[in-house]
Amino acid sequence: MIARKKVAIIGGGVSGLAAAKAFRERGHDVHGIERSHDFGGVWELSRSYPGVQTQSPKDLYHYTDHPMPDDYPEWPKGPQVHAYLHSYADKHKLKDCYRLNTNVAAMERRADGQPGWTLTLEADGETVQEDFDFVSICTGQFSEKNIITHPGQEMFTLGGGEVMHSSEYTDPSLVKDKRVVVLGGSKSATDIAVNAAANGAASVTMVYREPVWRVPYYVGGINFKRLLYMRAQEQQFNSWDRSVAKRLVAALFKPLVWANFRGLETLLKLQLGLKKWDMVPDVPIEKDVSCSIPIVTPGLFEAFKDGSVTPVRGSFERYEGNDIVLTNGQKVSCDLSILAVGWTLGVPYLPEEYRAKLIDPDGQYRVYRLAVNPDLPDMGFVGFNSSFCSVLSSEMIANWLVRFVDGQLANQPTDQEMRDNIEMMLNWKRKERPAAQVYGGLCSAPFHFRHFDELLDDIGVRQRKRSNPLAEQFSYPHAPSYGRYLASAPQYQAG
Ligand SMILES: Cc1cc2nc3c(=O)[nH]c(=O)nc-3n(C[C@H](O)[C@H](O)[C@H](O)COP(=O)(O)OP(=O)(O)OC[C@H]3O[C@@H](n4cnc5c(N)ncnc54)[C@H](O)[C@@H]3O)c2cc1C
Repeated sequence: MIARKKVAIIGGGVSGLAAAKAFRERGHDVHGIERSHDFGGVWELSRSYPGVQTQSPKDLYHYTDHPMPDDYPEWPKGPQVHAYLHSYADKHKLKDCYRLNTNVAAMERRADGQPGWTLTLEADGETVQEDFDFVSICTGQFSEKNIITHPGQEMFTLGGGEVMHSSEYTDPSLVKDKRVVVLGGSKSATDIAVNAAANGAASVTMVYREPVWRVPYYVGGINFKRLLYMRAQEQQFNSWDRSVAKRLVAALFKPLVWANFRGLETLLKLQLGLKKWDMVPDVPIEKDVSCSIPIVTPGLFEAFKDGSVTPVRGSFERYEGNDIVLTNGQKVSCDLSILAVGWTLGVPYLPEEYRAKLIDPDGQYRVYRLAVNPDLPDMGFVGFNSSFCSVLSSEMIANWLVRFVDGQLANQPTDQEMRDNIEMMLNWKRKERPAAQVYGGLCSAPFHFRHFDELLDDIGVRQRKRSNPLAEQFSYPHAPSYGRYLASAPQYQAG
């Protein structure tokens, strides 16, 4: 018999909800813990910047059994995603297992010697400790702000200037009549720059370090989901652990693959006018593709053209009076400085001795299938990885994780097998595909199919591909089909 476990799910965003459902479905005693007053994680309304929308089309951003409403646009807005996540939690009655406004402050091995962890929970000004048999960490990549400061910042703010992290830009009236300088070139930086320009900022300057490849929602008039999310495209990248036969095939097709990517680069350069803006990246696109590739904010290049957003290559060196001095020596006048410099990945409540087992000195995470570390038993991650289809990715990992915990995977790995696999993956990232080292090496793009194949093989499903081989090869991951694949695995109940 499989023991029923008391499971903590930390986080009530996309991944926490997926994990809560997966563990409950198998009969476990699930306790969700969310520090915010509401569900949704990055989509929770008070955390979202104005105008935010998904990068993934809606077909690629939903749970297997719960499509987004028909009347949602192709790229839903933040409040729509938030409402969608609530509807999923309602559908599966997940809300009643959650404690909101509850922060996990610390995590220690259980003092009673039993397997599991003791969590220190803070709520309503009180601190309590509670034991769990298993902890699923679903706190995502965007929970701890990356806080940076530059020399002269204190005088700048004393003189009336404002500095904020991108996540604090939640109200467009903040920029009215102000000279805004945005630091960063990621999606959040370009979203905020375009939004500030459209909402009455006196001027907007976007200071970015170096050009990166950006993908528009429509490439050459075609929705990018039809071009970039297929197995046929994925197989052109150098994935891990390729057999000799696969390497030979790759060598044979190298000229074709080269031509394909040069064609894509040319299309992007022409469509976006990258040369004109001195924004052609140095790195070939096939080497650069990872979770850090942004989707082009609608209106970005138009804003460059009409002068409402001025892109400047460089970084901040210091604040000087009301100016920001850039690394290229240029001075930019500024009232509001918005730092779109991302988030710090981590598990701050995990003691250092355990973090050392999880994270290598170069910041790479040691996790098997992006979910577990053999040297940290009774805990796992759901959605700690970035992806271009995060909802499906989290649901797949959640289903894998519960079976792993219950010893019900068809390919239940030994600790040594996990360690060997982790080493192989780290070696591949460090030597063969440096782009895969972004976000602590926790990025499944562009290898979604490969990652899902591995999870489904481990789970022991009877079907893991569509019956039509052409559709399988040339179409994006179809969430409802993945629901059917998961349902084709042997079923069981704990307790
Ligand atoms: C603006 C934006 C747009 C995005 N668009 C896309 C997209 O189009 N496609 C895509 O695939 N991905 C996208 N992403 C990535 C996005 O992070 C994922 O899609 C997904 O929402 C992550 O969900 P999550 O539950 O893993 O993490 P989060 O949404 O970050 O949720 C984590 C939760 O954990 C809680 N938490 C953290 N620490 C603690 C603690 N100590 N105690 C208790 N609770 C805690 C947080 O409050 C939060 O609610 C986007 C991200 C952003 C920021």
